[in-house]
Amino acid sequence: REIVKAGWNFDNTYPDLPDSLYTKLGPVPVNSPKLVILNESLAESLGLDAQLLKSDEGVMVFAGNMLPEGAEPLAQAYAGHQFGRFTMLGDGRALLLGEQVTPEGERYDIQLKGSGKTPYSRGGDGRAALGPMLREYIISEAMFGLGIPTTRSLAVVTTGETIVRETMLPGAILTRIAASHIRVGTFQYVSQWGTVEDLRTLAEYTLKRHFGPREAENPYLMLLQGVIKRQASLLAHWQLVGFIHGVMNTDNMVVSGETIDYGPCAFMDTYDPATVFSSIDRQGRYAYRNQPYMAAWNLARLAETLMPLLSADEEEALKIAEAEVSQFFELYEKNWQAGMRAKLGLFNEEAEDESLIKDLLDLMEKHQADYTNTFLALTFDKPGDSTLFNSGEFVEWKEKWLGRINRQQESTQSSHQLMRNSNPAVIPRNHQVEAVLQAAVEEGDYRSLRQLLQVLAQPYAHLPEQLEYSNPPEPSSCAYRTFCG
Ligand code: AMP
Ligand code: MG
Ligand code: MG
Repeated sequence: REIVKAGWNFDNTYPDLPDSLYTKLGPVPVNSPKLVILNESLAESLGLDAQLLKSDEGVMVFAGNMLPEGAEPLAQAYAGHQFGRFTMLGDGRALLLGEQVTPEGERYDIQLKGSGKTPYSRGGDGRAALGPMLREYIISEAMFGLGIPTTRSLAVVTTGETIVRETMLPGAILTRIAASHIRVGTFQYVSQWGTVEDLRTLAEYTLKRHFGPREAENPYLMLLQGVIKRQASLLAHWQLVGFIHGVMNTDNMVVSGETIDYGPCAFMDTYDPATVFSSIDRQGRYAYRNQPYMAAWNLARLAETLMPLLSADEEEALKIAEAEVSQFFELYEKNWQAGMRAKLGLFNEEAEDESLIKDLLDLMEKHQADYTNTFLALTFDKPGDSTLFNSGEFVEWKEKWLGRINRQQESTQSSHQLMRNSNPAVIPRNHQVEAVLQAAVEEGDYRSLRQLLQVLAQPYAHLPEQLEYSNPPEPSSCAYRTFCG
């Protein structure tokens, strides 16, 4: 294969792990690749030359038709609990090209998603459709704009091939950037089918890659604590912006603490804790209000895999694992409360804050208010959702809240600034995302998609041009549904 230079600077460590953790293989070439979107600022931060990436050869890399210098493509093996059921999985339509070391010395996985069949494809075609790959691009970049840890999207190419789903769809490949792709399911895979030595090797590797060289009496306990801490922070972020992941299976939770796998995810418009968007989540397992519990459930599965490393005594190991996982809720609550206080412009803590927050959410639910826009209306002291804002209970609540703000040492001006920085002007609303995807996929018109991306990149700037993106959808008789890509 030919070699492409564009600043690619691979230093691959994953192939040093036990062989059972991956299969080395190359991407399956595609017919006629065409670049439809490139994330130039991300390219630059990775040390890549955007102009060279856009050249014919550069695009060949995103298509899997050529390999960049230093690439060692492989499909990762992993397992996972899918909606509670344990099964063998793996990269069925993705390949890790290698680990890019940036000019700043940071290490990122470069992964192609939709690059063809692998030994883990389980009857799937190994391919992806344009719509869902653009959707992942939009929502992952929106999460980044919101300041939430996430995998990112470097490029999408169309393949010139058609793929078969319920209908015929244009094929595409997404280039995904991640701190790593080590999943809870990776640990489950080794725990189930590997040796304890393999498990130790994976744990050491993960510690080194994500938690730095630190002295600890029990490094594996430190690993578990580190993952729990990051997930507690991540889940608070999700809840605070109304993000619903939709498929929180253990294979879709990475130990780095990034949000990953943008399949059936969506943002909530009207505040309703029972919201579920995914068409395959029939029981509401991954409903908005369940997300923290499901994260804890996943972390319990991770803790189980680490037990042989936590203590030689099985009972002792179980005790340690249980104690750590139960810490999750405390950490999560702390993060969430702090985030909610910031959304309400509160700097210090008072005993009644919990009920102040809860009362507002209850009123929002009762009056079916828009989640994002209610906080915006409070931030800019504008009348919000009329049924909520005109209700006597809300007027009473607002009095209490204003009293609470005035009791602080900080000026109301700094309160307002805190709220601006904590309440996004825009989120990727489903009806808007659908509209730009339709223009892009069906008409090849990417203008509105680019505009949306620009607006989503700085949600806390509160720019006038963001106003039109804050409109909630027209009331509809059928609930929004997402499907797996
Ligand atoms: P997900 O629900 O997106 O986490 O995917 C679950 C598993 O199915 C992963 O192992 C994917 O790699 C695999 N998968 C999803 N779509 C395909 C496809 N079109 N071909 C092969 N494998 C797939
Ligand atoms: Mg997945
Ligand atoms: Mg997926």
